[in-house]
Amino acid sequence: MRRAAATTRALREDDVDGLKVDELKDVLRTMALPVSGRKADLAARVKEALAARGEGEGEDEDEDATATIEAVVEATVEGRAVEEAEATFAEAREEGGVAETVMETRADAAPAETAAPVERRASVVEGWDEARAPTPGTAFWNAMPRATRADAREAEVTKTTSPLRVVHITAELAPIAKVGGLGDVVEGLARAHGKMGHAVTVILPFYSCLPTDKIDGLTHVMDYDVTKGRYQDGETRYFNFRTTAMRGRVNGIDVILLKPHDDERSNIFQGSKIYGGSYDEREAYLYFCRAAREFLIASGENPNIIHCHEWQACGFPMIFWGLRDAYGQDCDGMSNAKIMLTIHNLDSNGEARQEEFCATGVDASMFATVDKALDERTIGHNPERLCLLKGGIVYSNHVTTVSPTYATEILAGGGGFTGKNLVGNKHKFSGILNGIDPESWTPSDDPFIPYGYDSTNVKSQKALCKKYLQRGLGMKEDPDAPLVVCVSRLVPQKGVNLIEQAIRTTRSNGGQFVLLGTGHSDGVFRKMAETEEFGENSDSTRLMLMYSDALSHLLYAAADIVIVPSMFEPCGLTQMIALRYAALPLVRRTGGLADTVFDIDDASIDENERNGFVFDGTGAEDIDVALSRAFNLYKSKRSTFEEYQKRAMNVDNTWTEPAQSYIDLYRTL
Ligand code: ADP
Repeated sequence: MRRAAATTRALREDDVDGLKVDELKDVLRTMALPVSGRKADLAARVKEALAARGEGEGEDEDEDATATIEAVVEATVEGRAVEEAEATFAEAREEGGVAETVMETRADAAPAETAAPVERRASVVEGWDEARAPTPGTAFWNAMPRATRADAREAEVTKTTSPLRVVHITAELAPIAKVGGLGDVVEGLARAHGKMGHAVTVILPFYSCLPTDKIDGLTHVMDYDVTKGRYQDGETRYFNFRTTAMRGRVNGIDVILLKPHDDERSNIFQGSKIYGGSYDEREAYLYFCRAAREFLIASGENPNIIHCHEWQACGFPMIFWGLRDAYGQDCDGMSNAKIMLTIHNLDSNGEARQEEFCATGVDASMFATVDKALDERTIGHNPERLCLLKGGIVYSNHVTTVSPTYATEILAGGGGFTGKNLVGNKHKFSGILNGIDPESWTPSDDPFIPYGYDSTNVKSQKALCKKYLQRGLGMKEDPDAPLVVCVSRLVPQKGVNLIEQAIRTTRSNGGQFVLLGTGHSDGVFRKMAETEEFGENSDSTRLMLMYSDALSHLLYAAADIVIVPSMFEPCGLTQMIALRYAALPLVRRTGGLADTVFDIDDASIDENERNGFVFDGTGAEDIDVALSRAFNLYKSKRSTFEEYQKRAMNVDNTWTEPAQSYIDLYRTL
């Protein structure tokens, strides 16, 4: 301590005045960034240069002097106004020593030290508001100062003169019932069509975990009876099941929420999560499909399009046409209706034993043939089973999947069993790329991020978001460490091994990594999080094994690079969100990722289209090479990297085009 004080005095009285920021600046100007991109290395070089000039002599071994020079290097290299560096020096001189300035800055970060004792060097980013800084060790992303949303985007939409009535039947709707991309897609598509002047309603289960405070004008619409069956002791019994329909609006979208009437004392849709409650999901969603049909009949709706999503809604087309076959085409009064099915992920088929299908109130025997819904893989088994997704494909007027490349991959044999059914129905199958909803994903107007931005100020504002995240998570506040982010369900589809590899490679190459994810394959990350290198005190890595919409927004805003190394990816939204938030996506070439990310080094692609890093293969070395290309660009050609970031923000992946494609398709049915 005495030694530090002596050094401080020496710096103040001799070196600081003698050293002059201008001279330091001169030295800096003559130096290229070291290959490592680390400011500490640059500071070491500056010290060497100063020593060679005979300045700062005698301080070479002193840690405080090193810290001082590092602080100035950091300020200057950052492109921050040199005046600021000078001010830092001046202030330090007045307050009794440059070394103390550095120590003070460390003291500022004290709260973080309790949660994460990470050494943090002084890093000043222009525009940083210390008063708004997050409190480390808390769920600071939930306490974001909410910006006011602009609502000007609504006015840009041209309203149609021939509106359609569209009803979506879905298990998810963002933000109230979102587990993955399905929720986002239904929200985005419904809103886009609403803005175009179409009348859109989303029918959703009334899960007991829905945040009802986010549903405007929630009101009771009706209680009504739905035919339902129960199989017991070798016998199926049918009965009336009282059902409740509620109406409300979620961010401007009309929703109908269906659930068993309280008198039924049913546990269907009860629980703390969207999926995985204590009830039988097959029974619940089959009942939901029947309840949706009966609601549409009772409410006198005669929609033009009933748009079903995933296996959970596949019971609807089956019973819709099945009951018409049995009771006549007029039995439901929905003379206009045509049915569209969108497959968001072929991985989930929805398998049901025939007796389980009675939850729809309809006997399964009418669907139990190979040309209908029988799963041919189960022929000869006891019992033979239905595949709901197959039934949905057979009984819908048209089937889409969520990107052209995924559609092609499926037809080429990449879709397994259900893929074969699509080959047989390819005359009514197509791929339409998903969009992202600008209402939810616009960085200049995002209530979840602390410093909003557009392409004119992305550089400075994104740097602030990065610092905000680093501070909040207790990581090293290093503006020059490339920040790599992954927001993902943690399941084999998402390339868990490659995510793990990327975390390791990022750290060993001087970058930072934040993972936000949940899923049954999270074990490897839980183990990693227990190690010193990747645990809660790591200066470079945070493994956030949780779900948080708010934090995901902040991560996209702070990230330099977002990875999506999926084994297969029907569409993928994360890479599109990344582009809109000026984080360059690094993806495996598959499905929708191949349709939206174009490699920066691929000379066969128009220069203006290139927007990220793409790799093939599934090995550790494959993602490593892509990461190393990304890091090289970031570290040695920062202005080029920033140019790509600006360009990425201008890529239009919103719903404008896909929503129109869906309308065009609806009108052909
Ligand atoms: P999938 O539908 O297969 O999960 P997508 O890329 O289509 O993948 O959509 C994922 C959506 O879910 C994105 O909006 C992403 O930001 C979000 N998401 C995934 N995991 C999380 C998480 N743990 N916390 C918050 N959002 C998440």
